[in-house]
Amino acid sequence: MITFYPGPSKVYPQVEQYIHEAFESGLISANHRSQGFMQLLEKTIADLKSKLDIPAGYEVYFVSSATECWEIIAQSLIIDASLHIFNGAFGEKWMEYTHRISLKSNDASFGLNETLLMDRSAVFSRNELICVTHNETSNGTKVPNDFLLDIRKKVDNLVAVDATSSMAGVVLPWEHADIWYASVQKCFGLPAGMAVLIVSPKAIERAMQVGERKHYNSLLFIRDNFLKFQTPFTPNTLGIYLLGKIMQQVPPIQDVDLITKRRAAEWYSFLPANGFELLVQNENVRSDTVIAVKADKERILLLKKSALQEGIVLGNGYGKEKDTSFRIANFPAISDEEIDVLKGFLARMALKHQ
Ligand SMILES: *Cc1c(COP(=O)(O)O)cnc(C)c1O
Repeated sequence: MITFYPGPSKVYPQVEQYIHEAFESGLISANHRSQGFMQLLEKTIADLKSKLDIPAGYEVYFVSSATECWEIIAQSLIIDASLHIFNGAFGEKWMEYTHRISLKSNDASFGLNETLLMDRSAVFSRNELICVTHNETSNGTKVPNDFLLDIRKKVDNLVAVDATSSMAGVVLPWEHADIWYASVQKCFGLPAGMAVLIVSPKAIERAMQVGERKHYNSLLFIRDNFLKFQTPFTPNTLGIYLLGKIMQQVPPIQDVDLITKRRAAEWYSFLPANGFELLVQNENVRSDTVIAVKADKERILLLKKSALQEGIVLGNGYGKEKDTSFRIANFPAISDEEIDVLKGFLARMALKHQ
C-alpha cells in the first residue's frame, strides 16, 4: 500500500530498522532520568537544530502532539488575548481550544484564495499573541514567508506558528516567529505520538512574565526539565530515539526544501494538465506540502475507491471541503517512484473521465 494521506502519513521505511535498533540498544527500557536517556535527548535536540537550521538561541522541547501545543500556548504565554489568523479547519480549532482556556481569543479569519497582507495590523493590540497556521493542512494553503516578516517589521507582538504540516519539509523563517510547533507524523515521516515545540528567547521571557506553573505541561516546568535534558513526565523515548535517527538520516533542510518545492511545482502543473481542478486558485498561497484537488462528490468517491484497488491511499478532504476535495501529501518520506505510480493512476483516470 502506498499512502498519500497528509497525516498520519508515510513513515520512512528505515524506521523499521531503527525500531529494531532501539530495542537492541536497551534505551527504551531505560529510566528517563538515566545518563543514557539524557544523552539521547541532548543529541536528538542538537541534531534536530542542526538539520533544520534552528537558531542557536531557540530552545527545543518534545511534547505529545500539536494539539497539546495549543493548550501549552494558551496556558503559559497569553497575557491579554490571542489573535487567530486562519483560513481553515486547523487554524479554527486552535482558536477554539485557546478560547476554552483563555476566553480571550479573537477571530481574524480570511478567505481560502486570499493572500494575507499586513493591512490587518490595525487590529493588533499590545501583548496580543498572534497565532498563524503556516500550512493549513485541511485545504492545502500556506502563508507566504513575507507575511511573518511583515508582522516582525511592524509590531513586536509575540508570534506563534503551527507548522505541523510544513516543519521538516520546507525551510522555515525561524527568526520571524517566537513559537513554532509540529507533530512528527507529517513531514518528519515518523509514527504519531510526539510533537516538537520550539521557542525563541522572547517567548521564554514572556513565559517568565506570565509565570504560569499550574499544569504538568506548563511551559516553564517543561523548560526546567529540558534544561537538564530531562522531561516533566515519562517521555515517548522510542519517539525521541526515532526522531534522532531520522535527523541523522535526512539531508539539511535547504536540500529537502528544494526537493519538496520541485515536487510541488510538478504536481501543480501535472494536475491541471490532466483535467484535475486545484482547490486553491491563488498560486501565492498554494501549499508546498499538501496538494488539494477539487471535484464533485461522486468523482472523488470513485477516485478514492479505484486508487485503493491499486494499492494507493489518497487523503480525504477535511473540514469545509471534506466531500468536495481530496488531498495528496507531498512529504519528504514519499519516494519519486511512489509519486510516479500515483501520477500514472491519475492520468489513466483522467482519460476514462473524458
Ligand atoms: C495534523 C495537524 C494538527 C493536529 O496534530 P495532532 O498531532 O493530532 O495534535 C494541528 N495543526 C495542523 C496544521 C495539522 O496539520
